[in-house]
Amino acid sequence: MATIGFIGLGNMGAPMAANLLKAQHRVTGFDVVASAVEALGEHGGHAAGNAAEAAAAGDIVITMLPAGPQVRAVYLGPDGIIARAKPGALLIDCSTIDVETARAVALAAKQKGLQMLDAPVSGGTIGADAGTLTFMVGGAADAFARAEPILQAMGRTIVHAGESGAGQTAKICNNMILAASMIGVCEGFALAEKLGLPAQTLFDICSKSTSQCWAMTGYCPVPGPVPAAPSNRDYAAGFTAANMLKDLRLAQQAAGSTAAAMPLAAVAANLYQIFVDSGGGSLDFSGIMQLIRGHGPKS
Ligand code: NAD
Repeated sequence: MATIGFIGLGNMGAPMAANLLKAQHRVTGFDVVASAVEALGEHGGHAAGNAAEAAAAGDIVITMLPAGPQVRAVYLGPDGIIARAKPGALLIDCSTIDVETARAVALAAKQKGLQMLDAPVSGGTIGADAGTLTFMVGGAADAFARAEPILQAMGRTIVHAGESGAGQTAKICNNMILAASMIGVCEGFALAEKLGLPAQTLFDICSKSTSQCWAMTGYCPVPGPVPAAPSNRDYAAGFTAANMLKDLRLAQQAAGSTAAAMPLAAVAANLYQIFVDSGGGSLDFSGIMQLIRGHGPKS
């Protein structure tokens, strides 16, 4: 059993913390939303009055926050995790954030003698609930070895990607590929519809052909072929279009700083921006089908 401070008990953090409790760890949690802290108590967790208190309560401190600015705010400064964590604590940030922030915060932790990992996840809220997330981890090998048994309570696939920032790098590349492949699948199904080919027929052929990919076979953006996909429930998220746009912007930021040409990712980011601006931000990212088809979001 480990003592764990958990900060950020939102859509992902709440079920992740619940799984740590199920695995008999002692969890002290904090979120700026009071009801999220209360809900942790219902699962047997302990409430902290602020982030510093949660940080000081654990040998391991885990964060699951929206983006880079919140990670900087919670880790740095006189009341931040780095200042308030126990000596020798291991810090694990599971948020999806920019590589630069991940490296800067890990360096600040190192300067204080603390180990830190970036460990973003794939698998969404379904994977967080089921404890089947994939963790992509950046940081020192000995810190990874220490974190692995804790992460196993929340995930099924735990991969050490390399040094600090490598987990975030893997995450933004994964989501950039996913966005581009989702848009490609949408265009294929939209064209088939205009040409009078039923979606199920196209699916039956393409899912066994060279265009086969997860965006089609695991998450088909038209209703019918994949019953569990958000397309069957008016694109209720799932993984929101707003979050996909956030990740595409992170990829663009990384492309800018490395002078990498990423023309498809730029188009994908623009399409998701248009979809979000037209009211689709809270829909699942596969809802981009509505934009490709020429119908606006229904929400
Ligand atoms: P969320 O907005 O539901 O949760 C974030 C939580 O952090 C909220 O409860 C918020 O109140 C809290 N918070 C914000 N600032 C805080 C602060 N200063 N101190 C304490 N708590 C604070 O978001 P989420 O869906 O849980 O996503 C969290 C991260 O995981 C994001 O980086 C997201 O990109 C990533 N992610 C999400 C999914 C998904 O399907 N939702 C999948 C993979 C990765």
